Amino acid sequence: MASYEIIGSREKAVAIVEISEDERKRQKEIVKEIMRRHKHVKTVLKKLSERKGIERIRSYRILAGEKNTEVMHVEYGYKLFLDPRKVYFSPRESTERQRIASLVKEGETVMVMFAGVGPFAIAIAKKQTKVERIIAIEINRHAVKYMKRNVKANKLEDKIIVVLGDVREKCQDFYGKCDRVVMPLPHKSELFLDIALKCLKNGGWIHLYVIKKEEDVEGFAREIASAINAKEYFVKRVLPYAPRVNKYCIDFRL
Ligand code: SAM
Repeated sequence: MASYEIIGSREKAVAIVEISEDERKRQKEIVKEIMRRHKHVKTVLKKLSERKGIERIRSYRILAGEKNTEVMHVEYGYKLFLDPRKVYFSPRESTERQRIASLVKEGETVMVMFAGVGPFAIAIAKKQTKVERIIAIEINRHAVKYMKRNVKANKLEDKIIVVLGDVREKCQDFYGKCDRVVMPLPHKSELFLDIALKCLKNGGWIHLYVIKKEEDVEGFAREIASAINAKEYFVKRVLPYAPRVNKYCIDFRL
């Protein structure tokens, strides 16, 4: 069976399937089987590309079902409205979002760069109800529209500030105001470390996401820690990405 993931709720979900050249002849059968197994799947999308461009979105083809692929996804009790054809979203990262949320202390101001439809910001605000403020910056207009809707749907308007724009420009308003910076843009987060450091008040935490080979990650983390003068750092493997290559989060304490 081809690998697939499901995004959405019991009422309506979308299945995203990866079909290799070898499996192409069985494509119709695969789609039928997914829809038979998961009655709530209303559309089956086939991945046509890797994630690409600044917005990290794939191309898809609808193999079966409805054209409207907007869904409401629920994780850890909070709602996320989104359309996987217009925004980045990965349900497989929900455990990592909970890990970050559980690190946040009372009274913190948190900067979430590259915020997407808001899953990190919402996970944090739901888990640490005494967080002072979360600033969530995102460049994709569709994602920002969904993030605003998600903040409202989860009644977090008093905690989360949603900002449309480029992190490099929009963070300036928050320099020296944050206790923690989350940087979930694994292919090039490190290029924004100068901005993250400026966002911090007087020390704090930076959570930097990277894709690295197993044998390279420790050296990379050590180098960055030394470059930014981190007091300590921890490397956490988040998800497998390719053979011997993983997505990691490196937590730096400044
Ligand atoms: N944090 C979200 C999540 O976990 O679902 C989205 C992560 S996705 C890997 C990275 C996001 O960063 C995309 O939504 C993309 O549009 C956004 N992005 C990329 N470059 C950006 C920039 N310079 N400023 C603001 N957002 C940016």
